[in-house]
Amino acid sequence: MTRMRMALVAAAAVSALALAGCAGGGGATEEPTAEPAPTFEAGTTMAKLQEAGTVTVGTKFDQPLFGLVGPSGVPEGFDVEIAKIIASELGIAEDDIKWVETVSANREPFIENGQVDYVVATYTINDKRKEVVSFAGPYYMAGQSILVLADNDDIKSEDDLVGQPVCSVTGSTPAANLKTLGAEVLETDTYTNCLEPLRSGQVVAVSTDNVILAGLAAQNEGEFKVVGEPFTEEPYGIGLKKDDTEFRNWINDVLEAAYEDGRYEEAWNSTAGTVLPYVEPPAVDRY
Ligand code: GLU
Repeated sequence: MTRMRMALVAAAAVSALALAGCAGGGGATEEPTAEPAPTFEAGTTMAKLQEAGTVTVGTKFDQPLFGLVGPSGVPEGFDVEIAKIIASELGIAEDDIKWVETVSANREPFIENGQVDYVVATYTINDKRKEVVSFAGPYYMAGQSILVLADNDDIKSEDDLVGQPVCSVTGSTPAANLKTLGAEVLETDTYTNCLEPLRSGQVVAVSTDNVILAGLAAQNEGEFKVVGEPFTEEPYGIGLKKDDTEFRNWINDVLEAAYEDGRYEEAWNSTAGTVLPYVEPPAVDRY
């Protein structure tokens, strides 16, 4: 930078500071910052988190494409990116996010107990869950599907699962749907723990959301395949404390801004988009 240019920049900074001082009414003690920090009404969850400078987020740790802890030691995936967008709008840097593993069954209790500030974890919004937690979103629409061994040509749709041993996860919507369907459900705590029973023939299929199964199939190339059409709708939401309406509305605003300015698409393309096609996000539900 030339001396002249430095002088100009310095002069601009001084006048910006003067202006900021006038607007704020305080003046002399105010520090100029690169990005103006967002301001939130005192007492809101947003203000508390911003003040703390850190946030605790629940996500999956073993679901490729959405939330997977790999060699980096921190989770990676589409859900993780959505969580980061929300944190950044609170003025919280990626390194200041504390990641906590939430499996399907402990998402509601972790939110209720305050062990996490919000959950982004392939988390279907439904009325039963809304009795104990609230949801922003949806930010993605998945659907339940079926994973079988690559050489299995017997199972083509959910009808072929009736009376058959099928693995799914405790506390998940797919496990409940499989029971309604009349499958014999083997329940475990995470979807990766369903893979051994599938390999050994203890179950004939694993059933959960299509995008989770696509991630598992891609991670174990040639071993498994996803069959049939999705047979439920699983709108993914961001779980938060029940009736924290200000926080929910604010996250919905953040999602809509990210849909508009390309951050959502970018988050998809750098994660799940490496395997799955991009689809326009669903409209948020401001219930
Ligand atoms: N989306 C479903 C659910 O929330 C299945 C995926 C999961 O268990 O995380 O239960």
